[in-house]
Amino acid sequence: MVEIKEIGEVSTEETSPGAHSHITGLGLDENLKAKPVGDGLVGQEEAREAAGIVVEMVKQGRRAGHGLLLVGPPGTGKTAIAYGIARELGEDVPFVSISGSEIYGTNLSKTEFLQQAIRRAIGVEFTETREVIEGKVESLEIERAKHPLSPYMEVPSGAIIELKTQDDHRRFKVPEEIAIQLVQAGVREGDVIQIDVESGHVTKLGRAKDALEEEEEELLGVHAVELPEGPVQKKKEIKRVVTLHDLDMANVRAGRLLGFREEEITDEIRQKVDERVQKMVDEGEASLVPGVLFIDEAHMLDIEAFAFLNRSLEEEIAPILVMATNRAMAKVRGTDEEAPHGIPGDLLDRMLIARTRPFERHEIHEIIGIRARVQDIQLTDEAHEYLTDLGEEKSIRYATRLLEPARIVAEKEGSEVVEKKHVERVEEVFTDVSDSVEYMERMRRELPVMKYLTG
Ligand code: ATP
Repeated sequence: MVEIKEIGEVSTEETSPGAHSHITGLGLDENLKAKPVGDGLVGQEEAREAAGIVVEMVKQGRRAGHGLLLVGPPGTGKTAIAYGIARELGEDVPFVSISGSEIYGTNLSKTEFLQQAIRRAIGVEFTETREVIEGKVESLEIERAKHPLSPYMEVPSGAIIELKTQDDHRRFKVPEEIAIQLVQAGVREGDVIQIDVESGHVTKLGRAKDALEEEEEELLGVHAVELPEGPVQKKKEIKRVVTLHDLDMANVRAGRLLGFREEEITDEIRQKVDERVQKMVDEGEASLVPGVLFIDEAHMLDIEAFAFLNRSLEEEIAPILVMATNRAMAKVRGTDEEAPHGIPGDLLDRMLIARTRPFERHEIHEIIGIRARVQDIQLTDEAHEYLTDLGEEKSIRYATRLLEPARIVAEKEGSEVVEKKHVERVEEVFTDVSDSVEYMERMRRELPVMKYLTG
């Protein structure tokens, strides 16, 4: 049980959410046409519409054995679109993102690594009666403390939160684990949230009607919700999603507690989990929620991994496979064969292919604006234009990554608004990835010791 205490006075503070947290769907209309900006996604209309049609196939149970391949240059928002697919299917639908090259870097076998990724991308939804606290966030103060292992780092150590329903209004002091989730989910004043008292799990239900700006609803697809009724703290039937992998791991841990020596997930454990889940599904207590497995740099997978994925697409319950690549013709790893995108024909035959294209300037401008908004960072027009220049010349990733450093520099100068000079300052000290690679290549040519070290 997580300790949540009711308490007195409060003030407010800001938060800093994850890279794709502004994306709430694919931003399509009823005819599956992409709005120029919608649900936090900008441009890439063709790929978003393709993704929307795949979502519809999934919803109608007609995708059997298919996947989506996104083909386009780096930094054209392929991950962002895959993430949008998961959000389009539902708030708690699992999204797992791996890169093709990751299968080589772990102590797991390649197929075991993929198997775990697949099971992390399949959810099991239960409805349970839980004790929750729920309401509109009237104020939120994140407390920070020194990290226990690293005394110079400040991390959320708790929060004081004031919640309101139609009939009730209370303040709580919540512990670290909840404060971290509040920060990660980008919860701010005006959001309606629910905290599961027992597990401490935080769910963002939407934005209170009176706090929602029209622009937010249109561009970011944030839902407007009514204030909940009744008391802030109450028992409620709520839906919860855990993944098959969570259940596998829970069984491994339970085995350890009982003194079994198994440190890993075995086929036997998976079978046991599957049987139990099947039973709950048959009895109407649970349902399965296939999520999205996104594999970036798919051309880095090898023939064994492709064969495994191909088989897993045929399973009755499989995640939606979305792969991305920026290769044209390439050798399929582990063979001498060249194939389109380095993907073997039998798997490629099952994929619908959609293209992403380089962003236009106004789209980069819009994306930077959205990121600044969700990170609660104010930009002058000049700073916004300058970041857009950087997004165009280097990459959107680079430009959006500079937002937080620029805010820090502005803050040190006592400014609440990020100006062009603050961006220039951080731009001098942080390079983008192509510059850093070029730098190391030059060093390798110029410094004999580097030649010696890197061969
Ligand atoms: P790719 O997978 O093609 O390399 P990506 O999806 O990883 O691209 P980044 O270049 O890392 O995209 O994106 C930087 C930031 O811009 C992220 O916050 C991402 O969510 C956001 N972003 C990317 N594409 C879009 C888009 N079409 N609309 C809105 N935000 C986007």
